[in-house]
Amino acid sequence: MIIQLCGLSGAGKTTIATQVKSKAAAYGIAVEIIDGDAYRKALCKDLGFSKEDRCENIRRLGFVASKLSVHGVVCIISAINPYEAVRRELARTYKQVRTVFVDCDLETLVQRDTKGLYKRALLPHGHPDKLYNLTGINDPFEAPAAPDLHLHTHRQTIDACASEILAMIRHAAGHEAMHRYART
Ligand code: ADP
Repeated sequence: MIIQLCGLSGAGKTTIATQVKSKAAAYGIAVEIIDGDAYRKALCKDLGFSKEDRCENIRRLGFVASKLSVHGVVCIISAINPYEAVRRELARTYKQVRTVFVDCDLETLVQRDTKGLYKRALLPHGHPDKLYNLTGINDPFEAPAAPDLHLHTHRQTIDACASEILAMIRHAAGHEAMHRYART
């Protein structure tokens, strides 16, 4: 199974994915977090933040996820993943892909500003530290039209969000086991 998260920086993708991983371990379910920031330092070093590069980034993360997921590892792709077309492409290309919208209102994000990015993006034009391509401020984010799950981190706890994803994983695992049983 591949879970592609999408949502603005600071919405809670990494935090929730980490929580899901530890909750899933209690059920013997292996989870690999494919973290956009980490892969940008390795496999995706050559990519920037243009639309083409952001889409290519997701394609590569999807490819890695597909290789692991055939072995039964649940892969959580944790990246901003802002474009609907590439999210759909992933869902079409690989089996058992779920899209989870990690949604959070902008006011809360600017307050959290865990990485200091919003402060930089909101600086006046021409300021040497200004960021010109922060998703949600001055770069597009296309909200998914029909996500499998829509979380709201400004009003749900981390634990509640992680539990919803875990329930989705366990539900899919139950179906898979039933199909295997039916085939034997
Ligand atoms: P992202 O990976 O989306 O950039 P992070 O997980 O790095 O976001 O940061 C999210 C921040 O928001 C963390 O500091 C986390 O503790 C906080 N937070 C508060 N409420 C929630 C929630 N319900 N879900 C996820 N994160 C939350």
